[in-house]
Amino acid sequence: MSHLTFSSTSLSPELIENLTSLGYQTMTEIQAMTIPLMLAGNDVIGQAKTGSGKTCAFGLGLLSNLDVKRFRVQSLVLCPTRELADQVAVEIRKLARNIHNIKVLTLCGGQPMGPQIGSLEHGAHIIVGTPGRVEEHVRKGRLSLEDINTLVLDEADRMLDMGFEEALETIVGFCPAQRQTLLFSATYPAKIEQLAAHLMQSPQRVTVESTH
Ligand code: ADP
Ligand code: MG
Repeated sequence: MSHLTFSSTSLSPELIENLTSLGYQTMTEIQAMTIPLMLAGNDVIGQAKTGSGKTCAFGLGLLSNLDVKRFRVQSLVLCPTRELADQVAVEIRKLARNIHNIKVLTLCGGQPMGPQIGSLEHGAHIIVGTPGRVEEHVRKGRLSLEDINTLVLDEADRMLDMGFEEALETIVGFCPAQRQTLLFSATYPAKIEQLAAHLMQSPQRVTVESTH
């Protein structure tokens, strides 16, 4: 943990108030290092071990870009597995629990299509999903990514290990070129560096050593 409080950042009073009520008092190291960079509009690569609070970091980043009055998909978070996507959705809903009418939808493989198609027809502000299934919805025209302002690749190392590179490339091709791209990972192998090099614009890279 760093000693810095969330209120030392330019996060909205609404988000800070909710963090306080959740009992999140000080920022973790990765949060203290990435939140100011994200709020300044940078693309950010955040590398820190499991359990270091990466979800809350990018969750606050994407919520800071969100206009809840526009009922359009504005954030997309891609995760390697359904379990992780579910955890991320739970954490984002927690961070946004005092924002009225915010809609977070999960779209993961291995789940029946019918309910997902129905949910997409109702709309969402934030989509959290696995690359294969998200790609399928995008390709079939059921999910528009044209209003995405924040794209998050969570556990990017694992997504590449699982062979999701092509799906990621396709999905990114449907996102606006002008967007904020956030990449979070526990490790940073060479192939992530290559992915980041063409998916991100002048990314700021933050590494928290695992001894912290
Ligand atoms: P990572 O993605 O880095 O593996 P998580 O985002 O899953 O880590 O976070 C691990 C746990 O830490 C979660 O239960 C989360 O609610 C909690 N957490 C995150 N940030 C804070 C904070 N600033 N203060 C207290 N708890 C936090
Ligand atoms: Mg995580």
